[in-house]
Amino acid sequence: MEEFLKHFKNHSRAEQLWLSQVFEAVQQQLFPLLDASRGLSVSGLSLSVVSKVQTAFSSLSSDLPVSYRFVSVSELIRDQRTACCSSLSWSSAHYREQARGAELKLPAHKAIPRDNLLLIGCLCDGRAVGTSEGVWRVRDAGGSLACAMLKSSSLWLGRLMLFPSWNYIPHDAPGLGYLELLEPPVCVTLEAMAFDPGGALSEVMSVMRAAELLRQRCGDQVCVCVSGQVSVVCPLLVIRGKRFFCLVLSEEGSSVPVFITEAKHQYWRQCVCVGRSVCISSLRVCSLQGMQGQRVLTDSCQSRLHPHLQNRENSEDPDTHSVTDDTHSADTHSADTHSADTHSSDTHSADTHSADTHSADTHSADTHTDSINDDTHSADTHSADTHSADTHSADTHSSDTHSADTHSADTHSADTHTDSINDDTLPADTHSADTHSADTHTDSVTADTHSTDAVFRSGSAVRVKRSKLISFKGTVTKILNAEAGLYEIDGQVGLCLAYQPAQKWGGGLRPGAEIQLHNVHFIYRSSPFAPSVVLCACLRSSLQITSFSRLRSKVEVSGSHGPLQRLLLEKNLGPSQYLWLCYCQDAVAERLCPRWVRAERVCVVAERLLDVVCDPEHKTQKKRDIYREMIQKPHQCPVTMFCVWWPSTALWSLKQLSDWMRHEVWSSLSLASLLPPSAAHMTALELNSALSWSVHTVQLTDVAPEPLLLLGVLELDPTRATLQLRDQTHTLDCLCVSEDRTAHISTAWQGCLVCVQRCTLVMERFMKSQFPSWKHLDQPSYITHKDCRLYLQLCVDDLIIISPSAAMSRCLMEDRQAGRASAKRPPTPVACVSVLLRLEWKQAVLLRPEPGFVCGAVCLGDAQRWSHDPKNTRPLERERLGDAQQIELHFTGSCVRWFPVLHPGCVYRLIARNTEDVSLLKAKGVLARGGVTQLSSPALLLQPQWRIHTITEELPDTQSGVPEFLSVSEVLLSSSAPEIVSFRGVITQRITLQEDSGSRPRIQSQTAAEEQDVRLRLTVRDAERPGHVIDVYVDLSWGPYTLGLIPGAALSVRHVQRKLSKVCNVYCRSLPVSCVCVTDLTSVCSRSGVAPPLPPMMLLGEWAASRTQRCVLAQVKGHVVCVLSLRLQWTCSLCGSIFGQASCGRTHPPCDSTSAVFQAEAKVVLEDGSADAHVWFSSDSVCDLLKLNAGQWEGLQRHVKVKGHVKVYTRGRSMTCDEDPDDVLVQYLSCLCSSAAVCRQIHLTCRLRAQRTGKSQLKKVHRGQTEFICKFPPALQLQCTHIHTHTSTVSHTC
Ligand SMILES: [Zn+2]
Ligand SMILES: [Zn+2]
Repeated sequence: MEEFLKHFKNHSRAEQLWLSQVFEAVQQQLFPLLDASRGLSVSGLSLSVVSKVQTAFSSLSSDLPVSYRFVSVSELIRDQRTACCSSLSWSSAHYREQARGAELKLPAHKAIPRDNLLLIGCLCDGRAVGTSEGVWRVRDAGGSLACAMLKSSSLWLGRLMLFPSWNYIPHDAPGLGYLELLEPPVCVTLEAMAFDPGGALSEVMSVMRAAELLRQRCGDQVCVCVSGQVSVVCPLLVIRGKRFFCLVLSEEGSSVPVFITEAKHQYWRQCVCVGRSVCISSLRVCSLQGMQGQRVLTDSCQSRLHPHLQNRENSEDPDTHSVTDDTHSADTHSADTHSADTHSSDTHSADTHSADTHSADTHSADTHTDSINDDTHSADTHSADTHSADTHSADTHSSDTHSADTHSADTHSADTHTDSINDDTLPADTHSADTHSADTHTDSVTADTHSTDAVFRSGSAVRVKRSKLISFKGTVTKILNAEAGLYEIDGQVGLCLAYQPAQKWGGGLRPGAEIQLHNVHFIYRSSPFAPSVVLCACLRSSLQITSFSRLRSKVEVSGSHGPLQRLLLEKNLGPSQYLWLCYCQDAVAERLCPRWVRAERVCVVAERLLDVVCDPEHKTQKKRDIYREMIQKPHQCPVTMFCVWWPSTALWSLKQLSDWMRHEVWSSLSLASLLPPSAAHMTALELNSALSWSVHTVQLTDVAPEPLLLLGVLELDPTRATLQLRDQTHTLDCLCVSEDRTAHISTAWQGCLVCVQRCTLVMERFMKSQFPSWKHLDQPSYITHKDCRLYLQLCVDDLIIISPSAAMSRCLMEDRQAGRASAKRPPTPVACVSVLLRLEWKQAVLLRPEPGFVCGAVCLGDAQRWSHDPKNTRPLERERLGDAQQIELHFTGSCVRWFPVLHPGCVYRLIARNTEDVSLLKAKGVLARGGVTQLSSPALLLQPQWRIHTITEELPDTQSGVPEFLSVSEVLLSSSAPEIVSFRGVITQRITLQEDSGSRPRIQSQTAAEEQDVRLRLTVRDAERPGHVIDVYVDLSWGPYTLGLIPGAALSVRHVQRKLSKVCNVYCRSLPVSCVCVTDLTSVCSRSGVAPPLPPMMLLGEWAASRTQRCVLAQVKGHVVCVLSLRLQWTCSLCGSIFGQASCGRTHPPCDSTSAVFQAEAKVVLEDGSADAHVWFSSDSVCDLLKLNAGQWEGLQRHVKVKGHVKVYTRGRSMTCDEDPDDVLVQYLSCLCSSAAVCRQIHLTCRLRAQRTGKSQLKKVHRGQTEFICKFPPALQLQCTHIHTHTSTVSHTC
C-alpha cells in the first residue's frame, strides 16, 4: 500500500483516503483474477487502475474522482435493489439533459437515477462461472453478472476492464440482474493474456470461393479461413443440450452459412452483427443431417474470429491499449456507416411502411393465388415462389438476392424430412451423404402450396398472405407481454420475438431502447388484437440494441420458454394464431384467474379456446425444420405465410356484454313499434299497459361484426334459483333450454368452464309511463320509470366445455369408455349415505315466507352406505333394492339453487357426506305447507350441504310415473279435465295486468318493483292445433321472476287451476304451487319471420254445433247480411267518458283531460250458408269493414266530434238512431251500412266471444210457399281479429 501511495504524495488527505480504498478493492476483488505468472503486483495493478480511471474521468486534468465509490459485482447483486447508472465521463448537466430527453419521449417512465460507482472486472463469456450461454459476463473475485453491450470485440475476452458508463438493471430473482454497458470498456492491464491467433490466417478465402467449395462436394477435410460481411445472424439455439448459432457471410451475391458450435465460441454471437465484416479461421465443411446436398461451414476448436481483416496487423499488436482504442473507434465507425448505409431507407415511419407494403403484399398474394389456381405442379409453382421471394429479398439488403440459380442446382432427393426440432443434431463429421433422392426443396414448396390451397378452399373467409423480410430501426416504447415476447416499437408497430428462443434476461429490450432488426417478417393486419403492423422475428432474424434505454423499467422476462411459446412450438402456430392466443391468455387471466382457473392453467384454457375458434388445418402448418428456416433460400419458416385478420373472434367479458345489452335495450326502443295497429284507438290505460313490458332479443352472432365468444363458469345461484354464467367481471342469468326437450341441463354442468358461440341475448324492458294518448309517444318525459332484465338464452347443445367439472368429466369419460369402471384414481375415502330418486313433479319457487320449493319423487331403492362419495357414478344394483316410496322433497334457503337442474322424469342420487346414518335420508311425516294439500307423502327436508347428482344412465324398469302433460286442446275441451292441470303450449301473447289502484301499496322490494309484482295474462296456443288458445293468468309475485315468457316461446305449465268463466270460457289461473317453465325459445330467437300458423277454416254451422270440440280461433268466409249496430265515439283517454267538442263530458268529479281517442264498434250478421253468426268489429277493423279510405275515415271522425258520439242500429229495413234520426250523419251511416260495399262477401279470422248461454231462438223459415217455424241454437258470437279481404277504396254514393 505504501509503495502505491508513494506515487500520490502531493494529493490531499481525502484523495489519499480514496486511493487506499481503491487499493483495497483491487487487492480483494481484482488481483485474485490475474494470472500469478504474469508477475504483476497489487500495487502495479492499482496504479494502472487509477491511471485508467483518471483518463476516463477527465482526460485534461489529473483530478481523482473521489466522489466515486468502488463497487464489487457481489455488492451490486446483493445490495442494489433498484436500477441505477454510473458514468465517469458525464457531467451532472449532461446526465440531467439525457434523463430529461428520455423522459420526454416516454412520459410514463422515469430516468434511471445516477450513482457514482466504479466498476472494474474481468469480461468473460460465462464458461468460467459455468454458464456458457454465449453471453458476456463481468466477473470479479466475488461473483459475476451478465452484461449487454452495443458492440463488442472477441479480443476482449478474459481481460480486466474498467466500465466507464453503465446501467445496472436488477431483477427480483437474485443473479438475474444485468449490466448495460453504455460505453465500451477500457482495458486496465497493459498486457493481455497471450494472444493466440489460432489457425492459419495466410489463406483467407472470399465468400464466393467458399460458396464454390461447398458446391464442389470435396470429400476431404479442408480447413479454410473465410472473410466476408455478415448478412444474417441467427439466434443462439440449444438442441439436445448443445448450444450453437448460425451466421451467413455474404459477398457480391454469394453467401455461405457458418455454424458456430464450439462452446468456447458461443460468445462470438455478441461480437458479430449484420453489416460487419469478419474473418473466421479454421472452418470445416460439413453437411447437414436432414438437408441432403446442403453443405455448410462449421467452426473447429482452432477457429478464431477476427473482427477486421484490414486491421489485422493492429490486432496482433501487443499494445492492447491501442488495440482496444483502435477497435473501439473502428467499431463505432463501422457501426455508424453500417446503420447509415443499410438503413437509410428503412427508417421511414411505420405508416409509410404499411401503405407501401400493403400494395406490394397484395401483389405477391395475387401471384401466389395464381400459381395455386394453375393446376400445374412443382415447376410452375416453384418459379412463382422464387419470383415472389426475389421480390422481397430485393427489398432487404441481405444475401437473398440470388436464390434461383443456386437453388435450381440442388435438384434432387426427398426423403420426407421428419426432423422436428427435437430430432435434429448437427453432425460433427463431414460426410457428403447425398445418397437419397428427390428434391427436398421442391417437395417443401409443393407441400406449402398444398396446405395454402387447402386453406383457400375450406375456410373461404380466411385469407392467407406471404410476409416480406425487412430491416427496421426503432425505439421500444412498451413491453406488451414480455412472457409472450411481444413488444411495441415507436408507439405503433408490434414486435414479436416468440419464434426465437427466449433470452434469460431482458438483454436491454426495455422501453426507451433503440433497436435494429434484420430479416424480420413484416406482417400487416394479422390479428385484430395486435397492432396492424407486426414485425415478427424468426430463426433467421437478428435483433440488435443500438442504444440502451435511460429509463427505469421492470425486467419482466421469464427464466425460460413461457407456456405460450411452448405451445407455439408444440402446435406449430402461425403468427396470427399466436397473437390471438396471447390475446386470449390475457383475457382468461384477467377474468377467471385465480378464482376459477389457476395461473399455471391459464394457457391450457387459452389453448382449448384456440381449438374452438380454429379448424386444425388452419392452425397447424407443416413440420418445422430449423436448419432450413435459418439457411434455406428462398426463406421458409412458420412466419412466411400468415392469415389475414384471423382468428378474429373476440372474447367479451360478461361485464362487456352486460354493458352492451344495457345500452342496446334502450337504444333499440321504438315505442310505436311496440303497439298494435289499433294504438290510435287506445285509451291511456290501454296504451300505457301495452308499453309496460316489451322484449328485445339479439343473437350473439349479430352483436358485433366479428364473431364473439363468451367464456364463463356455470353456477347455480342460491338466491334467485337460476343458472348463471359467471366470470370475475360480472354474472349473467341464463335460461337453458334443450333443442330436443329431453336433454335437460344436468347437475354435472355446475362448475363447468364453458364457452358459448351461439346464444340469444334477451332483454326484457319494464316501463311505467303516463302517455295521455298515442299522439304523445314522441315525448319521452311521459316515461316515469324504466327497468330491464338481461339474460342469456342458451341451448345445452351450444355449450362447449373448456374445463369440465369433476362430475362432467366422469360423464364424458363414461361416454368414452362405454361403461367400463373408471377407477383411474382411487376415490378419497369419506363416509356417505345416498338414495336414488326419480323426480315426479316440481313446484315453483316461492319467496315467502322464505325461499323454497317442493318436489315429488319416488325413491328407487333404500338408502345406501358408502365408503367414498359415489357422486354421479353408474348406479349399483344394491341401490335399487327396496320398495319404491313416494316422497316429497322440500328445498329451502340455499337449497333452492337446485331448482334449474331438477327436471321431472330424471333420476338423481341424493348424497349426504360424512355420515353413515341412512335414516337421515328417510322421509318423515307430513310437513305442512301453506295452502298446499296436493299430496301428503312423507317429506324430506334437504340440508344445504347435501349434494344432488343427475344420473344420466338409462335405468331399466324405472319408467317414469310422471303425469303426462295435456295439450291446450285437451285442457279446453275435455269435460273430464281435472281441476289442477299441467299442459304444454306456445305463448302467442303476453299482457301485463294493471293493478287496481286500490291494491297499490304492495310490498315494495328494494329492487325493481315492476318485475317483482308482475301479473300476466299469457295467451297460450296448442302446439299442433293453432285454433285452440287458452288464457293463463300468472302471478309472478310469489316467486323469483320467470325468465323467457315471451311470445313465441314454448312452455310447460304445471299445476294450474282450470276455471270456467261466467260465459263458459275455459281459462287457467296460477296457484302458488304452479310452475311455469319455458322449454324452447327457438321460434322467438330464430327471427326467421315465420308467421304463427293460421287457425283452421270453419263453417259457421260446424263451429256453432261442435260445442265440445270448439275452436277458439278460426277463419270464416261469409256474406255480411246486415249491420246490426254501429257505434262511433270520441272517448276521453283518461277516464273513458264521452268526449264532446273539446272537453271531457264527465262532471262528477269533473275531468280536465284534453286528449281523446276515437273508438268504433260494429256488430254485423254474417252468414255462410251453414249458419248465421254475430260478428263484432272494433275500432281499426270498422274502417276496413265499411271500406272507407283514410280521408273518409277522418272526415267521419270530425263529424262525430260535434256531439262526441253516435250510435245507429237496425230497425226494420233501415237504420236509425234514438236521439236525432234525421241527422245527416245518421242518414249517411244508415245508407253506408246497407250499401253493397259493406254487405258483401268477406273473409275473416275470428275469435269466439263470450257466448250467451240460454235459449234457442225461434225463427220463421220460408221454403217455397211454405212457412216453417224452426228452433235455432243461439247465434255464434264472434270477435273479428283480422279482415283478410283486400280493402279497395270504393266511393260511396247515397
Ligand atoms: Zn422467417
Ligand atoms: Zn275524462
